[in-house]
Amino acid sequence: MIEINEIFGPTIQGEGKRIGNPSVFIRFGKCNMSCEGFEVEYETPSGIKKCSCDSYYASDIAFRDSWKKYESSKPLIEEINKIIPSYNVDIVITGGEPLLYWRDVEFQKLLKYYIDFGLEVTIETNASIDIELVHEWQKKILFSMSVKLSNSGESLEKRINKNTITNIIDANNQSYLKFVIDKDFLPKASLEIEEILKNIPSCDVYLMPLGDTAQLIDENSLSVIEFALQKGFKYSDRLHIRVWNNQRGV
Ligand code: SF4
Repeated sequence: MIEINEIFGPTIQGEGKRIGNPSVFIRFGKCNMSCEGFEVEYETPSGIKKCSCDSYYASDIAFRDSWKKYESSKPLIEEINKIIPSYNVDIVITGGEPLLYWRDVEFQKLLKYYIDFGLEVTIETNASIDIELVHEWQKKILFSMSVKLSNSGESLEKRINKNTITNIIDANNQSYLKFVIDKDFLPKASLEIEEILKNIPSCDVYLMPLGDTAQLIDENSLSVIEFALQKGFKYSDRLHIRVWNNQRGV
């Protein structure tokens, strides 16, 4: 069964390699991490106070009752197609952690439908779950791998899966890594990213400023740009946060 937190668009992709592209987002429910280190405070529907990332409503199963359940990809595709405009858009699969559904045959049908249709499909993932890409069509998927650093609060064993990162880059060498960091974390981030890049195939690396408001993004962006320039990494802004702050579904 596929669980969907929200479908929205057309809007623009706010970050990464396809920044600015008109896109339709499909946000999957569930995550294998909680990333308490990102310190976004929220309350569950039953009133429990917790701390996680800015996508807590999609990652925390406490919100599961509000997610839409699909036994088959067909009604989900019908739902998505209602908001696809007459021009080409990218399909962005996000979460939560969408690769929790990788072995689900209906998830694979959904991906294949849009690849066969000729649309660009991006999967936004933390890249920590074991996956293999065996079909040629799967190699057309762009993976935007937001691998977590220690500022997420997650353990090294849980957040770094070099086999999966390698499988993904071997399948599609346009796939890339991105790291969300703030100015105080830069020295540690430098060492941690260096360690992650050892023994994996080469790929683009994007750095993005931490923050769930335009003000926080502003506070971090210059230091992150300077660090990216020192290290030869790319910088990606987070346009959706600059324009819409942390408003959902835009
Ligand atoms: S892996 Fe991503 S979606 Fe999951 S808790 Fe961490 S930041 Fe949120």
